[in-house]
Amino acid sequence: MADDAPDAPPDLPTPDDDPEPFAYDGGRVDPGETANVRYGVSETYLGDAVRVPVTIVNGERAGPTVFLSAAAHGDELNGIEVVREVAHEWDHSDLAGTLVCLPVLNVPAFLAQQRYLPIYDRDLNRSFPGDPDGTSARRIAHNIHRNFLVPCDLGIDFHTSTRGRTNTLHVRADMDHERVARVARAFASHVIIAGEGPGGTLRREATAAGVPTITVEMGEAHRFQRDLIDRALDGTRSVLAEFGLRQESAVAWPGWRTVVDGSEEKTWLRADAGGLVEMLHDRGSLVREGEPVCTITNPFKTEVETVTAPFTGLLVGVLENPLVHPGNPLCNLVRLGERTQRAIEREGERASGSG
Ligand SMILES: [Zn+2]
Repeated sequence: MADDAPDAPPDLPTPDDDPEPFAYDGGRVDPGETANVRYGVSETYLGDAVRVPVTIVNGERAGPTVFLSAAAHGDELNGIEVVREVAHEWDHSDLAGTLVCLPVLNVPAFLAQQRYLPIYDRDLNRSFPGDPDGTSARRIAHNIHRNFLVPCDLGIDFHTSTRGRTNTLHVRADMDHERVARVARAFASHVIIAGEGPGGTLRREATAAGVPTITVEMGEAHRFQRDLIDRALDGTRSVLAEFGLRQESAVAWPGWRTVVDGSEEKTWLRADAGGLVEMLHDRGSLVREGEPVCTITNPFKTEVETVTAPFTGLLVGVLENPLVHPGNPLCNLVRLGERTQRAIEREGERASGSG
């Protein structure tokens, strides 16, 4: 076993191996080459190809193959910028391994600037691993899955909150799966929400196919949020270092971390009154048990409800659109242990997101 990678699973290639081409149905990319491909996954009403942009960077030296994907939901833009910057702005002259960069997975939804595939509102991120004889969503998923996900050794799928809400940068990962947990920890986010994810999601089905995959949630739809993009780039750099693709140090410990496991540790606070919401904290803030989180007022600016935190925790998700019906979600609160609370307090303002 190589001294420089003592805990690398034996099935991952190392720089001591011979580099290999990356092959997909219709092409190949040799070691030392970068290819920008538009890969046909479906057809429009006019019979034109619907083509997914893919950049494949094959390093001169052997190493793991990693996919980075974004915009499985067409209006979730932050991840697009992360994937594009890694593919086109980083220096890959020393890369050991291959990067498969998919900045826009759901091209029809991206063109329409909506979450789901147009017409039937199908969720591409419930359609994996896909089916060559299935619905249009499943055929698209099948083409992406078999060509660009299955050949990889691990992957990161970037998302944002749903339109009208925002979330602090966090990882979603099956922490019971040893190789997935290694990717998740290497990304070095403060918050990891544990769980394998719903059936049909890219990360769950890619993991089931032998490609350990995490989801990164960051910010809101329809935006480029520079602070979150920069943090996601740091996390990506750390994952690539952990698995030996880049010769730099992985971030072993982000300062503090909470792994949320089980429904009693996280809750959506919901409105009991209809009205207009004023949030009193940003996403990523620490709130104390009993502390007001937001107020709801009527058109006469009379307060009709004050929503308080049922336990001390972190506001992982908050709403951006201030209009609510009774029962609508206001914010997603994650319980924090005493040690994590103290670590956040020591970190002071660094813990709270903005923008
Ligand atoms: Zn999403």
